[in-house]
Amino acid sequence: MRLPDYHTHTARCGHACGDPSAYVMAARSRGLLGIGIADHLPLLPEPDPELSMGLSDLGHYVAEVQALKTAYPGYVFLGIEADYRPHTVSDVASILKDHPFDYTIGSVHHLGAWGFDDPRQIDEYADRDIDDVWTEYLELVGDAAESGLFTILGHLDLVKKFGYRPTRTLAIELDRLVERIARAGILVEINTAGLHKPVGEAYPTLDILRRLWAAGVAITFGSDAHRPEEVGRDFAHAVELARAAGYRGFACLETGLYGRRAHVRIRQFDAADASPGRPAAGSTGASSS
Ligand SMILES: [Zn+2]
Ligand SMILES: [Zn+2]
Repeated sequence: MRLPDYHTHTARCGHACGDPSAYVMAARSRGLLGIGIADHLPLLPEPDPELSMGLSDLGHYVAEVQALKTAYPGYVFLGIEADYRPHTVSDVASILKDHPFDYTIGSVHHLGAWGFDDPRQIDEYADRDIDDVWTEYLELVGDAAESGLFTILGHLDLVKKFGYRPTRTLAIELDRLVERIARAGILVEINTAGLHKPVGEAYPTLDILRRLWAAGVAITFGSDAHRPEEVGRDFAHAVELARAAGYRGFACLETGLYGRRAHVRIRQFDAADASPGRPAAGSTGASSS
C-alpha cells in the first residue's frame, strides 16, 4: 500500500519493542511509501521510564534515526511525539528547537496531572464528569494545534480510548476545535491504534473526519505501532474512512532540498490504496460516535 506511517515508537520509550531499523524494515517489507519514527519525547516535568526515554537518551535516538535517514534517503523521517501540557510548553519548545526533527506529533495525554489514557490511572474516570473531561480535552487539543509546535495532531479523540463517551453530541465544541485546527494549518493523522483498544475504532471518528474534510484540513496516517509488526496496521481501513469522509488525497513528507527539514506535500490516493480493507482480526470496526 503506497501510504506512509508517521507514528511509530521504539523500545526506548519503555513500553514498546524493537529498534528503529526493525520498524524501517517492516515498512519496506509492507511496501509503505515512507516511515517516520516518532518516539515519545521525554515527559516533562516528571520523567516516567514507562512512558518515554530519558533526556540523556534523546541524542542517541536522534543519531540512530539520522543514520537510517542516510541509509534510506527520502524514505525515513526523524519525528518525535511530544506531550502538549500547558505548564511545559516553553521547555518542550526549546527541546524541539534544539534537535533536527523532520516533523513533530503533538499529543494530549494528560488533563492536569491525570494521564487519562494510562491504564494505570483508569480509576479516575469514576470520579469525573465525562462531559467535562471531553470538553477540557478538546480545548487542550485546540491549544496544541495553535501552539505552532507541531506538524501533526496525534490521535485527535484519544479521550475515547477506554470507551467513555460524552453524554451529548459536543457538536459546538467539535466545530470550534476543527475551526482552530483549520486556521492553524496543522495536519491530523488517522491513527489506527484505537481499533485495538477498548473503544474499538480508529482516531478520529468518521464524524470528526467529515468535519475536518469540510474545513479543508489535510490528513495523514499513523499506526502508533509499539512493535515492528504493527507498522501500517489497518491502513486499508484508514483509507476507507478517509474516502468515506470525502478525502481524495493525503499529506506526505518529502526531504527538504540541501538537507533542510522535510516539507509536506499533498498526494492523491492511487488505485492500490482504494482496495477494500477491514480491521485486522480481533477488532470491532469503526463507527462514528
Ligand atoms: Zn500518543
Ligand atoms: Zn504514540
